[in-house]
Amino acid sequence: MNKNKVGFQMAQKKVALACSVCGSRNYTVPKKTDRATRLEVKKYCKYCDQHTIHRETM
Ligand SMILES: [Zn+2]
Repeated sequence: MNKNKVGFQMAQKKVALACSVCGSRNYTVPKKTDRATRLEVKKYCKYCDQHTIHRETM
């Protein structure tokens, strides 16, 4: 299934990593080419004041 073909626009895209608890976008990382998996990283959230799972948005 390849109905939504995206053109080659920018050299490198960035995605935000949002805290899974409060939803704040605390980090940005370079977009990976493989879109099959969603990035999940445990990072410090200053709003939650603890390490939480941060997920790739968009
Ligand atoms: Zn948070």
